[in-house]
Amino acid sequence: MKILIPVKRVIDYNVKVRVKPDQSGVELANVKMAMNPFDEIAVEQGLRLKEAGQADEVVLVSVGPSQAGETIRTGLAMGADRGIHIEADQETEPLAVAKLLAAVVEREAPGLVICGKQAIDDDSNQTGQMLAALLGWAQGTFASGLDLAADKATVIREVDGGLEHIEIAMPAVVTVDLRLNEPRYASLPNIMKAKKKPIDALSVAELGVDIAPRLKITKVEEPASREAGIKVGSVSELVDKLKNDAKVI
Ligand code: AMP
Repeated sequence: MKILIPVKRVIDYNVKVRVKPDQSGVELANVKMAMNPFDEIAVEQGLRLKEAGQADEVVLVSVGPSQAGETIRTGLAMGADRGIHIEADQETEPLAVAKLLAAVVEREAPGLVICGKQAIDDDSNQTGQMLAALLGWAQGTFASGLDLAADKATVIREVDGGLEHIEIAMPAVVTVDLRLNEPRYASLPNIMKAKKKPIDALSVAELGVDIAPRLKITKVEEPASREAGIKVGSVSELVDKLKNDAKVI
């Protein structure tokens, strides 16, 4: 079975994101970028399934500008087999990405797609679900556990207040949560090997998908800065402040 894993290039999670002065978006110039952390977890899971003999190929796909090729290369250095880069210089919304991925699924015929549960830049949490809907496939979202058997997958889902165990038919789309696994670091030999692994380039036009934006961002703002805390002198002062200032009790 082939596993397809969409990986997105996003601002590195360690970077403090700055809003552009004209509030049209966030500053991307000279900012460190990296693979979306949830997608690293997806890649790790794909590799573990391959190592367990449940998959024979792990293929990465990224939609983005030329530098998205570097993101694919990062996943190839972790151990994935090959990559597909869909070149798009403009911002792509989840629906557009899902349609492009659906077109790749048609060409590649994977038995499983593993996405991150969300991209940490737009926090949309939509692409995997939209892809499953477009394909008419089952979906298991927010996975913190994943087991495959012949024609079905068992997914443990992180839901409010507990874990939900579901069984879904394959082929399926699974979106992964933080606690599924801890992604490996790429070893130096694997980084070297990754340089020789193939990355195919595909254009949006070739896939016949309209990626024109449907949403308009009207304004991006910094979150309100937090006020400094204070130290109270006694329990009664604390209770008084909670009651009369914060009005929470
Ligand atoms: P989102 O719906 O934007 O929060 O993204 C959810 C997941 O969809 C990500 O974790 C990726 O697995 C995938 N994805 C979103 N955008 C892209 C992209 N431009 N290229 C490849 N995969 C993507």
